[in-house]
Amino acid sequence: MIPLFEQYPLLREKLAYVPLGEFPTPVQKLEQLGAELGVSQLYIKRDDLSGKVYGGNKPRKLEFILGNALRSKAKEVMTFGGAGSNHALATAIYARQVGLKSISMLMPQPNARYVRRNLLMSHYCGAELHLCGAGLESVRNMPLVYAATTYQLLRHRLKKGHLPHFISPGGSSPLGVIGFVNAAFELRRQVTSGEIPEPEYIYVACGTMGTAAGLTLGLRAANLGGRVVSVGVCSKKIVNTSAMIKLISKTNCLLHSLDASFPKFEFSETDIDIRHDYFDKRYALFTDEGMEAVSLMRECEGIKLDGTYTGKALAALKHDAKSGSLRGKAVLLWNTLNSKDFSDAISDLDYHDLPRCFHRYFEEEVQPLDRDY
Ligand SMILES: *Cc1c(COP(=O)(O)O)cnc(C)c1O
Repeated sequence: MIPLFEQYPLLREKLAYVPLGEFPTPVQKLEQLGAELGVSQLYIKRDDLSGKVYGGNKPRKLEFILGNALRSKAKEVMTFGGAGSNHALATAIYARQVGLKSISMLMPQPNARYVRRNLLMSHYCGAELHLCGAGLESVRNMPLVYAATTYQLLRHRLKKGHLPHFISPGGSSPLGVIGFVNAAFELRRQVTSGEIPEPEYIYVACGTMGTAAGLTLGLRAANLGGRVVSVGVCSKKIVNTSAMIKLISKTNCLLHSLDASFPKFEFSETDIDIRHDYFDKRYALFTDEGMEAVSLMRECEGIKLDGTYTGKALAALKHDAKSGSLRGKAVLLWNTLNSKDFSDAISDLDYHDLPRCFHRYFEEEVQPLDRDY
């Protein structure tokens, strides 16, 4: 049984849950990297291995989100993300696995090789792909996304007679966030069994904030003391303290309303630690520090990180280690990136089979830092 349900059996009756991933994910000591950074107790949570076909942080959220979609008798789901969205891909993969069709409303983003891979894989999984909006940082973006979404919803309604089930961007609805409340209880089991010392700091990449919000709430509920360091990968319009507190509170209220024995906690600004210095101008734009961190991890530990998310999280950790603030502390890097290789599935695919608007990601150059490292 999943750790959250073991602690709160009533939640098991109330929450729709569909097992998708492979849990618990391992925790592992990073000896080489720890020595390099002067952090003698440095660990990684291998959520990259969270799924058979596709890992990363999204399967944990989708177990509750797709569980709910199935319970509400949905036939299709619709979600949102960047053109290379890991969330949209995870949704396409796991929706199909449970018999649902998926529709992805994707927004322009800086080009990278993973954008191509994710688009091809989403297509391979039968997802219906639309490109809309003007990019996350543009003020014109949301009106354009709303307009395109409304159009697709009307079309869908006319064709099928019903509407698709909505999934929040990044899966960061309160239901999705519960996946990371559960993850904190999973971590507590690993602490209790002595696999890892109780971490004082947990570094995690932060986009739609569901992962960091769930961990923050989950650590409190599981009586673990660590502080979540959320490394922002989007502008402050999206990643900010008050929005994070709101998401935590909503999730907390949902859990408390389903099972009154799940306590209600207070969270204030001092409980939230968001770093904005590792984000540069645009979502999904790689940075020098981020890519240096990616290289360092590969050289020291042979573990793959990425330029959009996890490299930035490690860059923040690296910076804090250099300043000496992590000396003697138990530190955990929560790996949110998928590491399962799906290149075989897409090796024979032709990008011309994708809707025309996506061809530019295959015809234009990738961003310079994706080539240099
Ligand atoms: C989606 C994603 C994140 C961000 O998680 P949020 O819950 O949206 O903050 C971090 N890392 C990777 C690799 C992701 O795909």
